[in-house]
Amino acid sequence: MDNCVFCRIISGDIPSLRVYEDEECIAALDINPASPGHALIIPKVHKKDLTELDVPEIAHYFAAARLIGERQMEKLGADGFNVVQNNGPAAGQTVLHFHIHVIPRYAGGPQIAAWKQTEPDPGFLREIAERLTSEA
Ligand code: 5GP
Ligand code: ZN
Repeated sequence: MDNCVFCRIISGDIPSLRVYEDEECIAALDINPASPGHALIIPKVHKKDLTELDVPEIAHYFAAARLIGERQMEKLGADGFNVVQNNGPAAGQTVLHFHIHVIPRYAGGPQIAAWKQTEPDPGFLREIAERLTSEA
């Protein structure tokens, strides 16, 4: 897709720092990293988000994320890593071409992904569980 930033990175139209490549995907450093080494797993095919992927694709891309996370720890001295994957603008997805963020974390470093915990009553939690598991 001509107007898709990640399709243009895949085609080489937009330069990127590739740190991994195989037949199905690349990993490139994020242009605005949350921490040093922040990489993106980007499929070579244009699919909007996780809902458009089949199970073998999901397995392949997340295996690549694991590989990059292991390298961040081995080669950059990261103490851990976050795997973050946004689906839809409401979830913070800004580039509508599926991708996985692999964000190295360094002990004592800044907090990166956080949400405010809530304390709903048990009835509300049960209702949500019922809705998620109902056949209708
Ligand atoms: P999203 O918010 O969609 O999950 O993440 C999109 C990510 O793509 C952002 O972290 C942003 O910094 C990164 N990004 C956007 N444009 C470019 C680009 O041209 N090159 C690279 N390497 N990363 C980009
Ligand atoms: Zn694309």
